Amino acid sequence: MKRRVLLIYTGGTIGMEKDYETGSLRAFDFGNIFQKLPEMKLIECEVSVHPFKKPLDSSDMGPEEWKIIANYIGKNYEKYDGFLILHGTDTMSYTASALSFMLKNLRKPVILTGSQLPIGDLRTDAKENLLTSLYYASLYENDEAVVQEVAVYFEYKLLRGNRTLKYSAEFFDAYQTPNYPLLGQSGVHLNVNKESLWRPKSGEEFSVDLHISQDVLFWRIFPGMHLNHFSEIPKVKVLVLQVFGSGTIFNTEKTQNTLQKLRDQGTEIVVISQCVSGGISFGKYSNSNIFTKIGAISGNDITAESAITKSMHLLDNPNNEGSFAKNFAKNLCGEVSE
Ligand code: ASP
Repeated sequence: MKRRVLLIYTGGTIGMEKDYETGSLRAFDFGNIFQKLPEMKLIECEVSVHPFKKPLDSSDMGPEEWKIIANYIGKNYEKYDGFLILHGTDTMSYTASALSFMLKNLRKPVILTGSQLPIGDLRTDAKENLLTSLYYASLYENDEAVVQEVAVYFEYKLLRGNRTLKYSAEFFDAYQTPNYPLLGQSGVHLNVNKESLWRPKSGEEFSVDLHISQDVLFWRIFPGMHLNHFSEIPKVKVLVLQVFGSGTIFNTEKTQNTLQKLRDQGTEIVVISQCVSGGISFGKYSNSNIFTKIGAISGNDITAESAITKSMHLLDNPNNEGSFAKNFAKNLCGEVSE
């Protein structure tokens, strides 16, 4: 039986080709992908292509597009065995993280991929990324999908989507999950690291929760930062604060007063680390005690992309019970270590 994959093309470099006369990149009609890549016909799955009407640079993508994608997957969930999203590389980790929170209890693969060079380029990485992603999106064993989560496939690596960060604008190997092992790797064989795969709780049904709030702000501290700038932070409901190392910040009364003032105004403060590997550990240094005192939330080893989109999804979400802090502390879909 041929597995059915729904390919959603949103834009980005992967869907571009070089106009050899002008030398510039232009989007090509992705509906014609089978003409461009006749190899796709050889893959043992049936692919339906759904291109965005207007392909987007991923810097133009955000909550509206996440909702469109999540909604479309929800509507087509029963019809297809797997989903492949072609996406610009710049914000792919944000979309992957957001989708991981919006698509609850997935039992089918949702793979995102893109490329650093356009599909029409001689040295393109698009072809391998696209073809192998299709394999992972249609990989089943004993009638069960092998991947049951939102993943990113890029340059031979299958990665948990909500653990990824784009760390290179230059190399083909553009994504990492510093705080989580690979889900799989493709070489001569398509390998899957089964112990690392996420599995939804049994009995919990797949559902789509489109809730996204935008009352979230991200702030990175640096040595020498004028603390008056903290007091200029507009009134927001969630402040994701990226601090030093394992959770330290300037140990001054002014810092404490300013953060306390934000808390008194009702702002939730989520603390994450500027280090890409490892995470927050309140109490390890006295310069982190301030966070415990003001009731800030530890983001542990979560990425900035996941902390932001998780906050957006949880904030004022009518479908959740309990406080924001309590819900944020949960490992919802493998985004944080327990
Ligand atoms: N600017 C492009 C995007 O993110 C880059 C890429 O696709 O690689 O849409």
